[in-house]
Amino acid sequence: MSFNSLGLSRDLLYALEKQFYTQPYPIQEQAIPEILKGNDILGIAQTGSGKTASFVVPILQLLQSKPIPKNRHINTLVLVPTRELAIQVEKVFKAFSSLMEQKIKSLAVYGGVSINPQMIQLQGVEILVATPGRLLELVANNSVFLTDVSVLVLDEADKMLNLGFKEEMGNILKLLPKKRQNLLFSATLGSDITSFTDVLLNNPVKIVIEQESQNLDLITQLAYSVEENRKGPLLRYLINTHEMKQVLVFTSSVFRSDAVVNKLIDNGYTATAMHSKKSQGGREDALRKFKNGEVQILVATDLMSRGIDIPFLPFVINYELPRSPKDYIHRIGRTGRAENAGTAISLVNEEEKHHFGVIQKKMKKQVALIPSDEIDLKGY
Ligand code: AMP
Repeated sequence: MSFNSLGLSRDLLYALEKQFYTQPYPIQEQAIPEILKGNDILGIAQTGSGKTASFVVPILQLLQSKPIPKNRHINTLVLVPTRELAIQVEKVFKAFSSLMEQKIKSLAVYGGVSINPQMIQLQGVEILVATPGRLLELVANNSVFLTDVSVLVLDEADKMLNLGFKEEMGNILKLLPKKRQNLLFSATLGSDITSFTDVLLNNPVKIVIEQESQNLDLITQLAYSVEENRKGPLLRYLINTHEMKQVLVFTSSVFRSDAVVNKLIDNGYTATAMHSKKSQGGREDALRKFKNGEVQILVATDLMSRGIDIPFLPFVINYELPRSPKDYIHRIGRTGRAENAGTAISLVNEEEKHHFGVIQKKMKKQVALIPSDEIDLKGY
């Protein structure tokens, strides 16, 4: 299957080629023709499945044939749960749009930064990627109008509901015209999501992408049984012996992220944390430095890991196990993305052993626990 058979314009086929997208991923193959037909979509897909381009590309094509809307009346609204995802999704719109003949203006807006520049930049925007709270603020001060929205995208809708955005999402829906196209993407299809999609979507085309099992095959999984007080030294030992140049380390709390980072820095490594207590600027800075290799180790919590798009991440380490098996799969999936292989290592203490068993059962894969008592950690 090639992009040629999906009903895309020459302009977009050119942009895809320039971005080195040679073949559509399954979600793109299924979603693009349906979105171009004007259908609603319910896409069950993870980050890494290619879901972003599956809506970005057809939306840009649809907008090409539409008249430019009145100033500050956006045409497409993409709602996302976090600032990081807002920035990332908008980047994809920009990357494609910049390669097209007719440029389409897009913007990402999110809280935690000053609202004024966003108010000014909203001039002439057609595609707005927003977190719910900041969008409502911008609406309240007449910086943007939602009455001409023809396409609504909810990305990572499950996360939005989990984070308690339901009420804000409800308030936004009331401001949108009744007649519009709805595209909803979620990593899971729980009862929460189902009740929401039932009212939101109009006879949707349902697309389910089983990304996890495909991804898992690409990932070498290792696990060490280790006493809690040896986790830090073992982490540093593993970073050295595997010669990890770029590694994402997961912890389950903000406090622990900072503690791990401080210990790493004390031991001469370059490391930085990515969590909800960091300022917006701090997070962007951390991600940029990690991506460009200035910082070797990024220590993140689960929430912040959502949507961090790093195409070729070779190593992921679970300093602590996540509570849910889904999050485990999501974490380690960071290394097996876009068809690249990677290694995921878990540090499992006595108390976590039972939970690690549950995780293995859920992902239908066994990972032998390697004892670490014999490893000489002196000097680490
Ligand atoms: P996403 O799930 O949207 O976060 O996409 C995951 C990664 O796959 C991103 O780095 C994309 O640039 C990349 N990607 C998406 N679709 C394709 C494609 N058809 N060919 C090559 N890379 C792709």
